[in-house]
Amino acid sequence: MKSVLLTGHGGNETVRLGERPMPPADQGNVLVRVKAATLNRVDLYMRNSGAGITHTLPQIMGVDGAGVIEQVDDARTGLKAGQEVVLYPLVSCGHCEFCRRGESVLCTSARTLGEHRDGTLADYIRVPAGNVFPKPATLDFTEAAALGVNYLTAWRMLFTKARVQPWETVLIIGVGGGVSLAALQLARLAGCRTLVTSRDDGKLRRAAALGADHTINDATSDIVAEVKAATGGRGVDVVIENVGTAVWSSVLKSVVRGGRIVTCGATSGDQPPADLRRVFIRQIQILGSTLGTPDEFRHLLGFVERAGLHPVIHARYGLADIHAALDELEAGRQFGKVAVQVD
Ligand SMILES: [Zn+2]
Repeated sequence: MKSVLLTGHGGNETVRLGERPMPPADQGNVLVRVKAATLNRVDLYMRNSGAGITHTLPQIMGVDGAGVIEQVDDARTGLKAGQEVVLYPLVSCGHCEFCRRGESVLCTSARTLGEHRDGTLADYIRVPAGNVFPKPATLDFTEAAALGVNYLTAWRMLFTKARVQPWETVLIIGVGGGVSLAALQLARLAGCRTLVTSRDDGKLRRAAALGADHTINDATSDIVAEVKAATGGRGVDVVIENVGTAVWSSVLKSVVRGGRIVTCGATSGDQPPADLRRVFIRQIQILGSTLGTPDEFRHLLGFVERAGLHPVIHARYGLADIHAALDELEAGRQFGKVAVQVD
């Protein structure tokens, strides 16, 4: 079967389109014919270094994916051939302390598609039945694939971690990023007032068109001053953040007393000054988050279908154009997902 193979680390020369045998039965009891995948920053990380992520080369790339069930080995799964599905990207052990209490996203031996095991950028993938969910009927395969990482991550940050309420104001840092854009769409549909930042006026215009109530260009203006002006000096209830050092001090000053900051990344650095006095005196909650559970994924899929949410797709590439797709993601010009049509 055709596959995008990671054969080494360093750059696009280590990524090539090749042939691989059909996935072995020990990778799960559902065989899915992949129709579409979307790219994530971690695909660039795997290509460039992959350090700290246990994997065996060559490995098939791709974390997000959607497709059609080709074969189900176990009828008890309730799944059937021909069903249109979207994949949950984390394969957990099912028996550690965290899996047993329903927090499999904390599993001590979880393996992610395209990171620790073969991923979605291939004609076929085999996964456990617990990773296979019916595709929302309102979405095409590319849109559905986009839900796997960014939208699930944003869902857990907003609704599980921050427990955001419809009357609250949410500040979303770096709206050009995939999780941040997902958070904007979800928070808006949940009824929240949204403030977004970016260093790119074009991306801010796109965010405003998607319903952002207030846009802040943090290259030309001060986040804290803008937030204070937009909230009558009060600050926001919740901050959704993955930039880290470059904005952390502004984030701490933008949140209301008792407010919540949820972080899922640190693209500009992960060791900002902690400013602990501000954290405890103002009783700010700082919550770490990454991806989400299968249960949260199920809730997200139902919400997306009912609310009519469509993930934003920036560009669609064919499997043969994987280098161009990775380059486009790396350039950082995108607003929305860079997608790969597999079929
Ligand atoms: Zn586990």
